[in-house]
Amino acid sequence: MLPLLTEDAQKPELRSLSLAELQLLVDRMGEKPYRARQLFRWLHFRGAGSFEEMSDLPRPFRERLAQEARLATLVIDTVQQSSDGTRKYRLRTQDGKLIEAVYMPDLDPDEADDDSAAGIRRTLCVSTQVGCAMGCGFCMTATMGLVRNLTAGEIADQVYRVNADLRARAAAEERGSAPGRAEAAGRSMGGERPLTNLVYMGMGEPLHNYASVMRSLELLLHADGANFSHRHITVSTSGLVPNMVRFGEESQVKLAVSLNATTDEQRGKLMPVDKKWNIAALLDAVRKFPSKQGRRVTFEYVLLRGVNDSDDDAVRLSALLKGMPVKVNLIPYNENPGLGFGDPGEARLQAFRKILIDRKVTAMVRKNRGRDIAAACGQLAVQGQKEKRAAIP
Ligand code: SF4
Repeated sequence: MLPLLTEDAQKPELRSLSLAELQLLVDRMGEKPYRARQLFRWLHFRGAGSFEEMSDLPRPFRERLAQEARLATLVIDTVQQSSDGTRKYRLRTQDGKLIEAVYMPDLDPDEADDDSAAGIRRTLCVSTQVGCAMGCGFCMTATMGLVRNLTAGEIADQVYRVNADLRARAAAEERGSAPGRAEAAGRSMGGERPLTNLVYMGMGEPLHNYASVMRSLELLLHADGANFSHRHITVSTSGLVPNMVRFGEESQVKLAVSLNATTDEQRGKLMPVDKKWNIAALLDAVRKFPSKQGRRVTFEYVLLRGVNDSDDDAVRLSALLKGMPVKVNLIPYNENPGLGFGDPGEARLQAFRKILIDRKVTAMVRKNRGRDIAAACGQLAVQGQKEKRAAIP
C-alpha cells in the first residue's frame, strides 16, 4: 500500500512507479482503473514533464496527483554540441545535483552493439548515479565520489528530456527557426522517440544501483512507454561480479564489462574493484552469463598511453579471451585534465587491434565522440560542481 504523505520529498515519485504501482495509487484515489495506464503513457510514452501537460486527465485528478505524488523531472542545464553531432547534456535533478547524458547520432554500424543495422542509430548514454564509488583512476566522475543513486524515474527521464530536445530541434529545423520556449524546456513531446539505442555508461556504476537500474529498464522497455527493444540497450559494469550474475538471470538486455587491463596488478591500480573481484572471477562470471537470444558480452578496453596499450598487453588480452564468444571495444582514452593519462594515438590503437584480430578476437575501435566538447564521462558535471562551489560566498 502506498502511503499518503504530505512532505514533498517523501511523496512517491511518479516516474519511478511501475504500472502496477500506479494502478494501486489510482485505485486508492478512487479513480477509474484505466486512468493508471493513461498516466503511465503520459509519463513514459509522451515523457510529460509536468501535470499541466497531461491534458486529457481531469483537472481535479491532476490536482490530487500533485498533492499526493511528485514528478522529479530533470531540467536541461547546459548543452554542448560537437562538430561530429554528439550533444552532451548536463541535467539538473530536483535537489540540484548535476548529471550527464551524451547523445551520439549515427554510430557506425560496425561499431554498434546491436543488430539493428538498418537506419540511423541515435544512441543516448545515460547516468545511473550522481558521482561514483568505484574510484577508477582514469575517470573524472570518480573524483566526485558517490553523492547519491539516481532513482529509476531520473534514469528514464534523461531519455525523455533528450528526446524532447531532439524533437524540438528537428521541428525548428523544419520551420527554419529556433526552438520555441516550451520546446526548449523539453515540453510538448509526442509519442515518437528520436532515440533508438541506450547505453548505461554515463556517470556511476549501474550495477551498484541495481534496483533502480532494473526498474528503469522495466519502464523503458514497456510497450506502453518508450518501448525500447532489449536488443538496443546495453548496461555497462566495472565488474561487480555478484550483480553481473544476478543481472544475467533477471534481465535480457546486453552487458558490457570494463576490463581495461590484462593483469590484476595493472587492473588493481586502475580499478580498485579488481581487488575484490579479480580478472579470473570476472571472466568466470562472463563465461556463465546466459546468452539469451544470442546476446554476447562486450568487453570495453580503454587504451591508456604507456599503461595498458603495449603489444604484450594485446597478446595477454587475446589469451584471456580465447574461446569466449565475446567482442572487444577498444576505446582510445579521451583525456581528462589533471588525471595524468594520455591517448595512445591512432598507430598504437591499430597495432593493438591487429594483434587481437590476428588471434581471432573480434575487436572494434569505438571512436572517441565529441572530442571538442569535454565528452568524457564526468567532465561537464564535475566542472559544474566546481562552478557551484566557487559561487558559494
Ligand atoms: S569509469 Fe565508471 S565505474 Fe569507474 S569510476 Fe568512472 S563512472 Fe565509476
